[in-house]
Amino acid sequence: MSGILSTPNWVGAPANSETDIGTRIFKLAARLFPVCRSITGSGVRETLGVLGQHIDITRHEIPTGTQVFDWVVPSEWNICDAYVKDGSGRKIISLAESNLHIVSYSNPIHRIMPLSELKAHIHTLPDQPDLIPYRTSYYSEQWGLCMSHNAFLALADGDYEVLIDAEKADGHLTYGEYLHEGATDKEVLLSAHICHPSLANDNCSGLALLTLLAVAMRSRKTHYSYRFLFAPGTIGALTWLARNEDRVERIKHGLIVSCVGDGGGPTYKRSRQGNAIIDRAMESVLCSGGRQAIMQDFSPYGYDERQYCSPGFNLPVGLFQRSGFGTFPEYHTSADNMTFITPENLALSFRMITEVIDILETNWTPVNLFPKGEPQLGRRGLYASLGGDKSTGQTSMAFLWVLNLADGTHSLLDISLRSRLPYPDIFHAAQLLQAEGLLRSGSYANAKH
Ligand SMILES: [Zn+2]
Repeated sequence: MSGILSTPNWVGAPANSETDIGTRIFKLAARLFPVCRSITGSGVRETLGVLGQHIDITRHEIPTGTQVFDWVVPSEWNICDAYVKDGSGRKIISLAESNLHIVSYSNPIHRIMPLSELKAHIHTLPDQPDLIPYRTSYYSEQWGLCMSHNAFLALADGDYEVLIDAEKADGHLTYGEYLHEGATDKEVLLSAHICHPSLANDNCSGLALLTLLAVAMRSRKTHYSYRFLFAPGTIGALTWLARNEDRVERIKHGLIVSCVGDGGGPTYKRSRQGNAIIDRAMESVLCSGGRQAIMQDFSPYGYDERQYCSPGFNLPVGLFQRSGFGTFPEYHTSADNMTFITPENLALSFRMITEVIDILETNWTPVNLFPKGEPQLGRRGLYASLGGDKSTGQTSMAFLWVLNLADGTHSLLDISLRSRLPYPDIFHAAQLLQAEGLLRSGSYANAKH
């Protein structure tokens, strides 16, 4: 992981080391892509096995029937094979070709049926006729198939053999955790859902990014402990919360990470609290220094922030994405494949999250020791010491904002947000002012929360 605050400006081409991390995230996402995942079953275990080659993941297995708040851990679903053959024996649908062809968590079936009956079980996208949709039937007992609308229209009358060799049985719900231990047991929760099959952006990208972030953090000593959670959407988050209810107050900041490999956004959905430090740190990273982002207030629809931000928990957990879910045409279709995500976009998303971590780890509250009038900066050589390629104007502004707001009630994050200057510029200016004896180091700003 790059050093603290070493990449203050993510606009523009990534440096070589960033291209490298992007390539590694991309390769890991590509390994995850073909696995047939669902909310339970061997696909989740296989995925955790791949992630476990990079980090020491603790795997949890929760039995079917376990009560988790108002929900119950469902049966385990596993699928061996699935196809539809026409009268000539030609496979027109096959699990081996794409696991999106089978409605996830579908009931098993093996029958010959006429086209009219088969059609009632086929899902297509008439407005995107070349794409296979992604569909689930988690909480209803049915079977179903998905195919491109064009292939659907080409189906000839006649009988078809339909096989879905799947099993729903008592088993387990599986999720994985990895803890990067910091100096304190205050935690930052970083979570990605592990239940989607072959969809690259949603959410092979999030699983791969967080795994390699955990790897990168091994070399970094941190104030917070970082809990990485890889769990099936909704029921996985609920299960984790139910099993950790007595310790969730340790979570001081959190992010749900999904859809981080495309070139859209960035998009951030605030926690239910709306003004939590994570919300403000994301705003600083995504919106300061002239950067543009889509900032959304909390709503009770989306990913697992719905559970973490339910009123009984109300944790400071936001949702970070590039393009927001449901806003891009590839979403939940076969077009969300490995050609839709790029190493460059993954690298940029990685950098955005590391910049947020930098803020969580380094934010402090300065006190100006020369508050009566402006101290004379020129004779102290401070303008020259900021240096770099920053304009003199922005350099000056970072000093002036820090000195003016350093009244003991504003953290460096507050100053970044108020000035709209990037946090690294504010942090650097404050370090220089402190070294010159103009500032007193106040409290570690996030510690009391
Ligand atoms: Zn999804």
